[in-house]
Amino acid sequence: MILLAIESSCDDTSAAVLVDDEIRANVVATQQVHEQYGGVVPELASRAHQQHVVPVVEAALKQAGISKHDLDAVAFTQGPGLLGSLLVGGMFAKTLALALGKPLIAVNHMRAHILAHFIEEPRPQFPFLCLTVSGGHTQLVVVRSAFEMHIIGQTTDDAAGEAFDKTAKLLGLPYPGGPHLDKLARQGNPTRFPLPVGTMPGYDFSFSGLKTAVLYFIKKETAKNPDFVAENLADLCASIQHTIIQTLLRQLRRAAADQNLTQVALAGGVAANSGLRQALQDEAVAQGWQVFIPAFQYCTDNAAMVAITAKFHYEAHDFANQLVSSDPRLKLA
Ligand code: ATP
Ligand code: FE
Repeated sequence: MILLAIESSCDDTSAAVLVDDEIRANVVATQQVHEQYGGVVPELASRAHQQHVVPVVEAALKQAGISKHDLDAVAFTQGPGLLGSLLVGGMFAKTLALALGKPLIAVNHMRAHILAHFIEEPRPQFPFLCLTVSGGHTQLVVVRSAFEMHIIGQTTDDAAGEAFDKTAKLLGLPYPGGPHLDKLARQGNPTRFPLPVGTMPGYDFSFSGLKTAVLYFIKKETAKNPDFVAENLADLCASIQHTIIQTLLRQLRRAAADQNLTQVALAGGVAANSGLRQALQDEAVAQGWQVFIPAFQYCTDNAAMVAITAKFHYEAHDFANQLVSSDPRLKLA
């Protein structure tokens, strides 16, 4: 079985080739254009996808040593994401499938972030608990099978990635701030500045209180000392990161205990955070969990995760037709 997958939900254009169980290519073109605006500009993202999609797909096929005539199906991200971005990948995939006379597979992006765990060993076994933390989502999901997923908790305001990016912006760090904050936090004291851990009923999350607390704290301290942020940058980063991690772990712990699940998986771009990865490993020892974290390149947006999800669809003979449309608000379940 040979699958080509295309991912274009946000600001990364990616193409991957899956041959049986093996990812033979996973090419990602990131878009630098958004950095100067401090966030993704949807119109610019669509245009960049249009420029990247052909060369990225050609590079993936070449790297995999596969001719497009060898493909068994063409998969693409149907949603959720930015409509203009989704349309570029979706239209490309539909056109290619039609021209080649091959089946088409529509993939849910959030499902793909979760199923990224099946790209490589060690793979979790169903059922498991997955904490998806990305730029647009924070979800606690009970994963019963590749198709049966239940969201038991989610953010009521900002996503975890947004919490990193928005607080990093308040500290004057470049966009996207998450990786910068992570790096600086390694040199800082995580308990120096106590910040509010968002508490929500059930398994939901809230991060907007943290953002406001950081804003007012910086304002107050900067009024007394204009160099406060510069002089305390590492400790501020460490304290913010620590608070986000505690907010996530609090609900994860409760959910795992209540659901009686000991396999705990982390997915999405924020899974790249070194503090979160370490905290989860420590928690695994304390709680007796088996923890799963995908390789870095499969945490942030990539087409390999779309390809592995497409494999589950292919095996279930679950194909899309040419009438399928991109859906910016596509639901997980
Ligand atoms: P979604 O999947 O919800 O549509 P997305 O695809 O834009 O959102 P991802 O690519 O999964 O999101 O993740 C991007 C987010 O991950 C950004 O908010 C970024 O700051 C954050 N991120 C990446 N690396 C790190 C890190 N090391 N520490 C903290 N956050 C990080
Ligand atoms: Fe994503």
